Amino acid sequence: MRNKKLFSFLVALTYCILTFSLSVQAQRAQLTDEQKILQTLHSISSHELFEYVKELASEKYGGRLTGTEEYNASAKWVASHFKKWGIKPAGDKGTYLQAFPNPYTLILKDCEVYLHVPYKKSVLKKYYTYEDEFIPGATSASGEVTAEVIYVGYGATAPELGYDDYKGVDVKGKIVLMEREAPVSSNADPELFKKWRPYSFHQYKLENAVKHGARGMLYNYGPISNPNNSYDKNFIYSHVGSVVVEDMFAGTGKKHSDVVAKIRKTLKPQSFSTGKTVTIKNTTEHHPDGIAYNLIGILEGSDPELKDELIIIGGHLDHLGYCYELMPGANDNASSIAVIMGIAEALADCPIKPRRSVMFLCFGAEEQGVVGSQYYCDHPVFPLEKTIGFVNMDGVGCGDKVSALAAENFPEFWEFIKKANEKYIHRMIRPSYFSNIARPRLDAARFMWKGVPTISFGVYGSRSYYHVTKDDIDTITPEILEDMAQLIFAAVLDMANQDSLDFRK
Ligand SMILES: [Zn+2]
Repeated sequence: MRNKKLFSFLVALTYCILTFSLSVQAQRAQLTDEQKILQTLHSISSHELFEYVKELASEKYGGRLTGTEEYNASAKWVASHFKKWGIKPAGDKGTYLQAFPNPYTLILKDCEVYLHVPYKKSVLKKYYTYEDEFIPGATSASGEVTAEVIYVGYGATAPELGYDDYKGVDVKGKIVLMEREAPVSSNADPELFKKWRPYSFHQYKLENAVKHGARGMLYNYGPISNPNNSYDKNFIYSHVGSVVVEDMFAGTGKKHSDVVAKIRKTLKPQSFSTGKTVTIKNTTEHHPDGIAYNLIGILEGSDPELKDELIIIGGHLDHLGYCYELMPGANDNASSIAVIMGIAEALADCPIKPRRSVMFLCFGAEEQGVVGSQYYCDHPVFPLEKTIGFVNMDGVGCGDKVSALAAENFPEFWEFIKKANEKYIHRMIRPSYFSNIARPRLDAARFMWKGVPTISFGVYGSRSYYHVTKDDIDTITPEILEDMAQLIFAAVLDMANQDSLDFRK
């Protein structure tokens, strides 16, 4: 009797559980497409994205300098997530990685810059402080140079422009003090700038200094770290800020700001010997045979025809490594990789499948001169002419407002972003036009030159740090990571499911 009661109780319980689970399933099936999208959108969590940034910016990955084992480890870590979510590898030989050659230089401890100050019958040394006043040149040769400092303006020798910063000064065996960029700006006078453009590259300036016999350089650049330069085994240099520059001009009867203004106004060189002696000492290790990797994953489209069209979501994975302290690169650009990961998981998981294919592309060697994106554009794994659009992100972790560079170049592309923002996110987004005539500083530039419609996102509105040790996890705003991922997820899903789409028109 007792057993019978228990039996009917169990039958009733099983019935209840079955009915309940069936009704949950039915409810899920009854969700509209819009509700399914919303459900996936809200599965993207700021907490998770913040943890991704924290991981990538941690000491374990050593600042992700392309070519190092630490960079490779960070790429493997991202790839392991892609694999877990069912994102297919699209790199070399069935892997997620696309390899290309890329030399790199390690900056080790024991780097100095000091001024020799004559005092009575001896000479005192005035040491400059790391990072606030100087930061070692990230492709400097190893060694020490002590020499007189010659100011050489923008370091350009441009016969066709009747301009030579090296005319009338002898820099053989000396240290040159040089400005970055060119004496004309790309915004103020685009046509004139185009003539000066070849002289605006760091590589050109360094090589021209070497060609004139200089042994070292104080580069008026921040001081911030930047490995986007050439390497010469005898050339030792450092990036310096205003404290060092002002010291070089002290007692010369010239004011630095006046001299720069005069060059820019007259386009006539103002080179001179500062009469100062400086020592630059760097300890570095050059690796000419470095190998870099782009990381490529694809979510194949669900539509048999539309899957031959592609939308790329990308950003650079690399940063600056150690220079000589750790450069964590939390905002630049672990933030974008975290956001890309959030979008990848959501798109892979969404019950509404993208009809077009979507690629997740994490570049190597952006910091060394947007090399990875150039390599991809020259060796695309999916035809560029079938690539509908490229959503690039660079520095999307600090602040509360969004910038959309090149949105005005591609109004129909921008329309999808705007629509997703108005529907779900409600952030302030500033669209702008990108003339893309200066030297390339974004992966987006490479794709635009190949005719691929591109919008490049960044975030601003709070204190952030660029190419210094303080670009760390403490500056990251978790909420903006979530909003960026939700914004791009919704916009890309919408684009991927249109019947026809052409932003090139
Ligand atoms: Zn950077």
